[in-house]
Amino acid sequence: MSVKIKEYPGHGLSKDEFKAAMKEFWRPNAKYAWAAGIAVSRFLEELKNGRIIGRKCRKCGRILVPPRMFCERCFRPTDEWVYVKDTGRINTYSISYIAADRRELEEPLIVAVIEIDGASPGMGILHFVKGVNIEDAKAGRLFGMRVQAVWKPPEQRTGSIRDIEYFRPITGVY
Ligand SMILES: [Zn+2]
Repeated sequence: MSVKIKEYPGHGLSKDEFKAAMKEFWRPNAKYAWAAGIAVSRFLEELKNGRIIGRKCRKCGRILVPPRMFCERCFRPTDEWVYVKDTGRINTYSISYIAADRRELEEPLIVAVIEIDGASPGMGILHFVKGVNIEDAKAGRLFGMRVQAVWKPPEQRTGSIRDIEYFRPITGVY
């Protein structure tokens, strides 16, 4: 039996409700390490050099970004490293008024899945988009937009996805 939802309960938080919900602050004493594995380790190392790398599966021809050592479609190991571009297209995005540390933001962040040029369709990197008009974002006009990575200066890169500061619209297109 299926249940049809006629009306969605709930509403966006008011300023007071937001404050009430965010009043608990904890400083957890958690330290953790995560082994990135062969594919992601190389991916992060290449970011430090200002390059995005993927893995190609010769059987299905797909280029996986971020790279994986195993093709889940062909059920076999992937074959080779392939450099892709630092440009792409916004596949989907969300407008966030809450920062990662739960602060309320006056200037919202746009978080997007970027399909990277040279990677196969459906492959994407989650990142920030800046330099766009927020009204365009609200109206859904960023879908499919061409963007390019803005890199940190080489001496500030650490081998992290944040070595790319954000993606911006490609000049002349937006
Ligand atoms: Zn494959």
